[in-house]
Order: sequence, then structure tokens, then C-alpha cells
Amino acid sequence: MDIKEILNNSIRTVPDFPQKGIMFKDITTLLNDSKAFKSLIEFLKVRYENKNIDFVAGIESRGFIFGSALSYALNVGFVPVRKKGKLPYTTIAEKYALEYGFDEVEIHIDAFRDVKNPKVLLIDDLIATGGTAKAAESLIKKAGAEVVESCFIIELEFLEGAKKLQSPIFSILKD
Ligand code: AMP
Repeated sequence: MDIKEILNNSIRTVPDFPQKGIMFKDITTLLNDSKAFKSLIEFLKVRYENKNIDFVAGIESRGFIFGSALSYALNVGFVPVRKKGKLPYTTIAEKYALEYGFDEVEIHIDAFRDVKNPKVLLIDDLIATGGTAKAAESLIKKAGAEVVESCFIIELEFLEGAKKLQSPIFSILKD
């Protein structure tokens, strides 16, 4: 089986969650399938191991799961992009629009310390409208690093989120 087939077989779609009309991509069924989870991380490791990545940055909270496993596999540091108010040290924050209202993500100001011209791989489980990833990309740049690529397990192409990002995007499944 190739990686797309493995992911298609292990990710569950839950209709009308958290509200009517949303087809929610549930990755918990991928995480609890040890072979599928390992295949995904191995696949991403092969893609990124020769790209001189210094850090993997993951978006709260599902980006933490994939990002930390991948950073371990790549032998590089992991940086969390968190929802507002969770990080204890000095932060940089970025607001972004939701369908109704705003949300905000933060990064530690010294997240990429000790590395000159740090190269970062941004990761999340899914890109929908791209608002979250755009805010995360902007924070990484403000913290002094370059986003080499933004990686998603699933891209909801019809929402055109990729157009919001400046970095190249790589998504394994397109829906
Ligand atoms: P967006 O900012 O619109 O690109 O939304 C991306 C964030 O919302 C990601 O962190 C996703 O985990 C989550 N998300 C949005 N739509 C879905 C969906 N249909 N299924 C699962 N997660 C979603």
C-alpha cells in the first residue's frame, strides 16, 4: 500500500462535527494504528531528511503530535505554536480571522535560539481556510526563521488555504 492508501484507510471522516455541514477529519484513528502512524512519520522523514531543516514547528494541538514525532525522527528540535495564553515566557502573537470572530496564536520569542538563519518546517494535520497556518508562518518569520515548507496530512483544496501561505506547501491527501 502506498502512503495515500494507508492514510485514506486510517483517517475517519465524521459528518456534522463540530457543527452541521462540516466533514471532520478524525486523525485519532490514524494515531492508534501503529503501522499507519509509523508509515506516515517514515514517509515524512524521507521527504525532509536532506532538506537541512533545523526545527519542526507544530500548530496546536494536532500539529504537536505529528510535529514532535517527526522532529524526533529528523533529530531536530520541536517548537510549539500555541493558542494565546499558554506559553510562559515572552511571546510574539498573531491574530487571525475565524468565520465568526478572531483567534490568536503565539510563539516564544527565543524559539529558534542558538541557530543562525534557522530553517523551519511547519506542520499541522489539516489546512482548511489557511488562516491558522498563515498566522503561524508569520510568527515563525517574526521570530527570525525561514519557513522552508508547510506540511499538512490533509488539504481541503476547495477552501484554497494554500493561496494564503508564502511558503511552498506539501499536502499528502487532497480532499
Ligand atoms: P484553517 O485555519 O481554516 O486552515 O483551519 C485549520 C485548523 O482547523 C487545523 O488546525 C485543523 O486541525 C482544523 N480543521 C479545520 N477544518 C477541519 C476539518 N474539516 N477536519 C478536521 N480539522 C479541521
